[in-house]
Amino acid sequence: MRVLVVGAGQAGLATACGLAQTDGVEVTVMSHKTPDEIRKGHVLSTQVIFGHGLAFERELGINFWEEKTPDIGGIGLSAMAPGVPMEQQPAIDWWAPLELTAQSVDQRIKFAGLLEYLKGLPGATVITNFTTSGELARTAGKYDLVLVGAGKSELVKMFGRDDERSSYTKPQRALSVVYVNGVEPGATDPDHPIVRFNATPWGELFMIPGLTKSGPCHILFIEARPDGPLDRFEPDIGERILSPDEHLRRFKDALREHFPWQYERCSKAELTDPTAYLAGRYVPTIRKPLLRIDAEHTVLAIGDVFVQQDPIAGQGANMATWNAKVVVDAVRERLQEGGPFDDAWKLATAERQWAIAQHSVRFSNTLLDPPEYVLGALGAAGQFPDVRRWLVNGFAQPSDFADRLYDPAALQQYLAGVAGAA
Ligand SMILES: Cc1cc2nc3c(=O)[nH]c(=O)nc-3n(C[C@H](O)[C@H](O)[C@H](O)COP(=O)(O)OP(=O)(O)OC[C@H]3O[C@@H](n4cnc5c(N)ncnc54)[C@H](O)[C@@H]3O)c2cc1C
Repeated sequence: MRVLVVGAGQAGLATACGLAQTDGVEVTVMSHKTPDEIRKGHVLSTQVIFGHGLAFERELGINFWEEKTPDIGGIGLSAMAPGVPMEQQPAIDWWAPLELTAQSVDQRIKFAGLLEYLKGLPGATVITNFTTSGELARTAGKYDLVLVGAGKSELVKMFGRDDERSSYTKPQRALSVVYVNGVEPGATDPDHPIVRFNATPWGELFMIPGLTKSGPCHILFIEARPDGPLDRFEPDIGERILSPDEHLRRFKDALREHFPWQYERCSKAELTDPTAYLAGRYVPTIRKPLLRIDAEHTVLAIGDVFVQQDPIAGQGANMATWNAKVVVDAVRERLQEGGPFDDAWKLATAERQWAIAQHSVRFSNTLLDPPEYVLGALGAAGQFPDVRRWLVNGFAQPSDFADRLYDPAALQQYLAGVAGAA
């Protein structure tokens, strides 16, 4: 069978790699940019991938950067509490280990490298092309299956918003990222890499050990509440009005003013390269996964085109990876059964993905505006290691939150049980 994948991002590339390794499948990938253009471009994400996503990449044999990339062994929370003077913040400060380590490989390295890997595979063809809706309509008929993983581009707007599953009509955070060298070790961090999540009323700061073009680095990421004091970068993803120096200067000012407990260790940080920064905002949106191109053809959304969430919980690239696994598994099963890749199959495949992604969306949306009882659990975690471990490992497996985190009575009962046993 012939498969077209539009968009060489986390979802498209992992799917294409899996399909290219599947007997009887020829896959064509349309990439917006060449590997060199991707490497020279701006950073795209902070891309922490948890254990299950890394396991799938290992299974596909595309974990090319694993040995050079820092293993993230835990997640820490430093949060301000109301009524406590700034010099005594963060009032909440703890960390807990991840059961399976996570990693963050600069998507510029990964996407460029995977495109080059695909070019060398007998079952794969790579075409450099910015696909338009007209081209999609013209080419769809030449393939048995068309998957659209074009991230946040204009093409995505062809897919309708799923009003029932989408919670927002406005961006919930303004995003700003810098990849830097020169960050000192954290005073309350363990002696191995962890992600540090810092929470204030104005937004969040994530500190992520990762791998970039020049080697290991720190990735610093501010999620600013729109129009608040941390919202001081560009208005839209990809609009780089600020120079690299000005962006970094504003970033450090934001740390000094609103995350003072992290400022000193970052005060000497320098960008890893002149394009190692990003700013913007977007509306978290769940879309209808099936798009009718003409009377005979439909295409299937994958990754952010289907489920685009705010990155506060580090879920999008993980869900894009799950989506790749779901599609690769579903294609292999269908080939064995010998059935058609019709709309019923496409919708069933999308529902398999939503069964997983809905938990991560719920978790992300909860972190954007945590209710009092969730804030209570984050505070209680400082006292109880079991609660810390449960919360931290839920980032990797948000379905584990389904029975407790969102139900105040069940959460209360759980916390009381842990406190009673302590
Ligand atoms: C600041 C920030 C931090 C994040 N941090 C994390 C995190 O820590 N963990 C996590 O799991 N997720 C994170 N995410 C989300 C994650 O990066 C995305 O959800 C993930 O990359 C989505 O994968 P995708 O393949 O759907 O889209 P993308 O990875 O965006 O890839 C889409 C690709 O399609 C290409 N393309 C676009 N239009 C066209 C076109 N018309 N024709 C051809 N090609 C096209 C693009 O160039 C791109 O290469 C973060 C996102 C942001 C913005």
